[in-house]
Amino acid sequence: KHNPEGDAQFLEDESTKIFARKVADHYSARTNQTLEERENSPIIHLKKLNNWIKSVLIQLYARRGDAVLDLACGKGGDLIKWDKAKIGYYVGVDIAEGSIEDCRTRYNGDADHHQRRKRFTFPARLICGDCYEARLDEVLADDAPFDICSCQFAMHYSWSTEARARRALANVSALLRPGGTFIGTMPDANVIVRKLREAGGLVFGNSVYWIRFDEEFLEKKFKSSSPFGIKYKFHLEDAVDCPEWIVPFHVFKSLAEEYDLELVFVKNSHEFVHEYMKKPEYVELMRRLGALGDGNQDQSKMTTCNSVSR
Ligand code: SAM
Repeated sequence: KHNPEGDAQFLEDESTKIFARKVADHYSARTNQTLEERENSPIIHLKKLNNWIKSVLIQLYARRGDAVLDLACGKGGDLIKWDKAKIGYYVGVDIAEGSIEDCRTRYNGDADHHQRRKRFTFPARLICGDCYEARLDEVLADDAPFDICSCQFAMHYSWSTEARARRALANVSALLRPGGTFIGTMPDANVIVRKLREAGGLVFGNSVYWIRFDEEFLEKKFKSSSPFGIKYKFHLEDAVDCPEWIVPFHVFKSLAEEYDLELVFVKNSHEFVHEYMKKPEYVELMRRLGALGDGNQDQSKMTTCNSVSR
């Protein structure tokens, strides 16, 4: 366990806060989709594939009765997955007020188009807060320790400054029990940088997404040695339109080690699909989620990286 007393004060400047607010406002403003809107989404295959990846990760690591901390839980899209794993307790934290409200609605089973089902069996606490700024060990002192900490498609929002990246990992480390598991997913920095080089400019993408780097940031960041604050704008049709930050995985891994998190598993999403589609139970899960088949090429080219530390 890392000693939080040993950390320097995690101070933030104003621009960092403005960017965190931009991210929060973006996600807060996204309304729940009807089932029909979801099925007609231009990225439906990608959404289903991402859900399959998260379901497999949860099945691999969650045990009956586990206490789970879901950092950046969003609208609670993973509640059903945790319920299937028969967890015992759930705490979800997200910076976006609107998303936490949707998550609460989903948990309570009110008027939710996705949830024509029984109530969840586990008690839950849902909190609106900045996971990469707040001392969650203080906020969640009565809820800790957790068996699992999950941060799906969101750890990269902590990489705007070293202070925030450290706060994120300090929170994870302080709240996990010894031997507990952290499961996270984030974009694969290697793929982003490779595509940027291939594009030969500051923008690349296809019919469903684009990524645009800022001239100033590119100049400053790729020439300076700092692996933090390498910002780009990410646009994904029908889902995302906000600033994000590159996370060089080797830096993530060594920073995590400083917080006593040892890497046990890392896979790019393509490798992950390749490996787990060898197992009949996960092929069946892919079929049930409606994610079998390639979707269109533009969606299958979106790449994420899964990492698990313990
Ligand atoms: N984990 C959810 C899932 O997989 O469905 C949501 C993923 S969504 C792509 C990213 C989430 O990160 C959003 O809900 C956003 O509000 C949240 N987020 C971004 N920065 C955050 C921060 N500093 N603290 C807490 N949540 C944050």
